Formats: sequence, structure tokens, C-alpha cells
Amino acid sequence: MLDGLGFQNDWLVFHNESGRVLAEVPVGGITVMRGALSRALREAAERAGVRFEFGKALTSIEDRDVGVQARFADGTTAQARALIGADGIHSRARQSYFADAPKPTYTGIINLGGIATTDLPSTGTTMHMVFGRRGFFGYAVRPGGETYWFSNFARPEESPRGHFSNVDAGQFTRELLALHRDDPPEVRRILQAVHGEIGAYPVHDLLSLPTWHRGSVCLVGDAAHAIGPHVGQGASLALEDALIVAKCLRDVPDVRAALATFERLRRTRVDPIAKQSRRTGNQKAPANWIARKMRDLILPIFLRSAARAAGEIYRYPLDWNEPVSDRSS
Ligand SMILES: Cc1cc2nc3c(=O)[nH]c(=O)nc-3n(C[C@H](O)[C@H](O)[C@H](O)COP(=O)(O)OP(=O)(O)OC[C@H]3O[C@@H](n4cnc5c(N)ncnc54)[C@H](O)[C@@H]3O)c2cc1C
Repeated sequence: MLDGLGFQNDWLVFHNESGRVLAEVPVGGITVMRGALSRALREAAERAGVRFEFGKALTSIEDRDVGVQARFADGTTAQARALIGADGIHSRARQSYFADAPKPTYTGIINLGGIATTDLPSTGTTMHMVFGRRGFFGYAVRPGGETYWFSNFARPEESPRGHFSNVDAGQFTRELLALHRDDPPEVRRILQAVHGEIGAYPVHDLLSLPTWHRGSVCLVGDAAHAIGPHVGQGASLALEDALIVAKCLRDVPDVRAALATFERLRRTRVDPIAKQSRRTGNQKAPANWIARKMRDLILPIFLRSAARAAGEIYRYPLDWNEPVSDRSS
């Protein structure tokens, strides 16, 4: 189903600010544009008979004698046996139904990125990650020069949501060129080729929700566990959640037991990845020269152990046909 949507991404190669290779991590994954993946999934679901309604903003959730009721901003309601809140990091389902849940935390890092056309040689199936002097930069060059890039840098003060959506590239590329001026030349060549609008997002995470389900309501994906982009796993974990919650509802007859089984099966996978993402994020914007030197000494060791763990993180076999029971582990 993913044919033509993305490209193979077998290796992450990490560099320091002078270009020295710190570690090479096998990931064996693919890079896919979010919009293309979302469209492909929606079209496949529609072909399978799933009905979509757009423009419905959830406002609240109430327990009913049999099941649960969702209320929407347009005044309509919907009843169901169970409600799966898949509404992202700023989840209304979480705010409405899990009132004591912690709120997402701003990590102090901004993420910008896009696609530029450069004359750099193709990086094949490798994505390069540069721990630059003042910010972190990732890139992959496709044959023909299509260059996927992103930059993460520290910005301690938090900007309001939506503040940076579709900003003019000129506004940020000047700042990015200054930030990355001491980093390897490829970084500057890519930034010089950036035009048009670019996406910029303050990075939040949400590490530990005491519970992901209550009664017949369950949170999945970023609504339950938003981990930031630092190990490139947020979307993958959300997709895994979707498959496993569906399996649990298919195989465990009681809805509440099915949702409890889902949470138990998923926590052991999600929690360690969330912690690793935050650790990686903390390395991206070291404050001073000593911190950078320490990072260069420690990071290869950290990344080598991450490389050993990478197999488990990036290759996670899931079999739709394998049944789940409320005793599965
Ligand atoms: C800058 C950045 C870079 C990232 N890079 C990567 C990466 O390289 N790899 C990776 O795997 N992950 C990455 N992620 C994380 C990834 O985008 C998320 O983990 C993933 O999108 C989570 O999927 P989700 O379906 O849980 O939530 P979302 O994708 O956020 O989807 C939530 C949906 O709910 C809808 N919604 C919101 N509120 C309501 C409401 N009240 N009523 C109804 N609907 C509502 C939204 O419109 C949206 O369609 C990145 C994230 C960021 C911010």
C-alpha cells in the first residue's frame, strides 16, 4: 500500500558540528510524507466501508448506561459502545474525560523543516543527522536533488499554538543560516536552497499519563503518549496503537477488558521509547562548549547502545491475524 509514497531509509548517520561521524544506526525504515500517508490510509478505509465526517470538533464525552456519548461543537452527538480518542497531543478527549491527566510539556525546542531542491549528491538510503554547534540538523537527498531537511533548535520561551504555521521561509532561513553557520557545508547549502513556506512547530511531549483508558473510553497515539520527534516514532506508535486496539476490540468480548488489555500490551513498548526520545532531545541543544564536548564523548556510547536497541524500536512485527486475549502479554 505504501508503494510510491516514500523512500527507503536504512541508516541514520550521526555527525558532530565538524562533520565527524559519531555513530551509524541501522533503522531499516521508510520516510513518508504525513499528508500522503494520511490520504492513503483514509482511501483504504473508505474502500473497506468506513464512513468519515469532516469538520466535527469533539467538545465533551459522557458515560451512558450502554456505552458512551460524544458531543460536538456543531451541537450534534454520537453514541457508541466505545470511544477511541485519537485526537492528537492537545486531545480534547483527554481534557474532557481524563480531567486529572497531565498536560503536554513544551520541550524548549522548535522544529522546522521542508523539502528543497539542491545540487548535493544523493544520500541513498541514509539520513544524516548533525549535532551542530547551536542546533540539530537532519537531511536526506534523493536522486535528482530533492532534499528533505529539518532543524531543531532551542527556544526557551513558548510561542502560542499555531503561531508559526506556514511561515515565510525568508523569516526563518536567515535565523537558521546564522544558527548553523559553524556546521558542515551541506547544511548551509540546503538552507540556501529553501524557498516558499515552511512548517515550524514548537515541540511538546507528554510522557506519563497515569491511565490511557477509563470505562469505555480509551486514548491512542499522541493523545495518550506524545513523544516528540527525536526518535521519529510518534506516528509509528500511533499506527501500532490503532492496529492493536482494533485487535483487542475484535478478540476480547468485554469492551472494558479489551481496552485494559490494549493499555497493558502497549505500555511496555511505548514508555521506554518515550524516555529515549526525551534523552535524545536533551542532547540537541547543549548550552555551552563544555556541554558540547561532553556530548561528543558520551553520545557515541549512547548511540551505540541506541543502535543495539534500534532493532527493537524500528522493527516491530505486528500480525493482524494473531489473536489477542485478555491474558496476552
Ligand atoms: C515537528 C514534528 C515532527 C515529527 N516527526 C516525526 C517523524 O519523523 N516520525 C514519526 O513517526 N513521528 C513524527 N512526529 C510525531 C507524529 O506527527 C505524531 O506522533 C503523530 O502524528 C500522532 O498521530 P495521532 O494520530 O495520534 O495524532 P495527530 O496526527 O495529531 O492527529 C490527530 C487528529 O485529531 C484531530 N482532532 C484534534 N482535535 C479534535 C477534536 N476536538 N475533535 C475532532 N478531531 C480532532 C486533528 O484534526 C487530527 O486529524 C513529529 C511531530 C512533530 C510535531
